[in-house]
Amino acid sequence: MSMLEVKNLVKTYGKGDSLVKAVDDVSFKVEEGEFVAIIGASGSGKSTLLHMIGGVDRATSGEILVDGENIAKYRADKLAVFRREKVGIIYQFYNLIPVLTVAENITLPVDLAHKKPDEKYLAELIETLGLTERIKYLPNQLSGGQQQRVAIGHALFNHPKIVLADEPTGNLDKKSGDEIVHLLKEANQKYHQTIILVTHDMSIAEKADRIITFEDGKIVSDQKKYHEEPKQADEITPEVEAEIERIEKSEEEHEGSHES
Ligand code: ADP
Ligand code: MG
Repeated sequence: MSMLEVKNLVKTYGKGDSLVKAVDDVSFKVEEGEFVAIIGASGSGKSTLLHMIGGVDRATSGEILVDGENIAKYRADKLAVFRREKVGIIYQFYNLIPVLTVAENITLPVDLAHKKPDEKYLAELIETLGLTERIKYLPNQLSGGQQQRVAIGHALFNHPKIVLADEPTGNLDKKSGDEIVHLLKEANQKYHQTIILVTHDMSIAEKADRIITFEDGKIVSDQKKYHEEPKQADEITPEVEAEIERIEKSEEEHEGSHES
């Protein structure tokens, strides 16, 4: 069973002449630990899809199976628990709580669930995010890249099944953006997190294991990064050997003719 399976998912807005099919009969599966990038032009339905998977928006029809359970059918209260315990969402504009410190913003999902934060994991995560010196800072005392790193910490701290990132580098300079993608990649490898990253930047999408391309609410391509096997050298047959000899000989003669 796949960790995530989206089946014939549809999301429409409006009615009649103004009907928009934001997500138009989309189906795909994601395995545990995969790092998937979703690319596509603005308005192609990427955010709408992500929001439905994250349980922050409702599907018009279709299924979203997480570990085999259809969250599209969940009632509001069950969906709220799903959001809190199973997903971590990272947005383009950080969405941090301005009056909470770096550490408090990161532990917020666990605090809200009235659980005791795992202090050891917190310290390790903050170290990984390069925020150790900033633990007591407030969001407005941080750069954009640092704020986004806090948002990543917030998304990861609960060990969610799925991490969803919607253009997390869209508001950052190239260097900070690359750092953010590097951290997501590290979370994917170190904590085996399943990540779905939306971007319209191909150089960022290429860091993922798989790239799904959206166009007008539909998937138009779905490509896994191909890990090529080292090529075996072609067998050298007597015919090939004779041919090599012939070429070498003619080259020698050619060189000889230059020297004279
Ligand atoms: P993307 O994230 O790829 O830029 P979106 O998922 O935001 O695309 O939007 C897909 C389509 O759905 C667009 O045509 C957009 O205008 C439309 N749309 C998104 N949200 C709403 C909404 N709340 N009401 C009406 N139309 C919407
Ligand atoms: Mg979007």
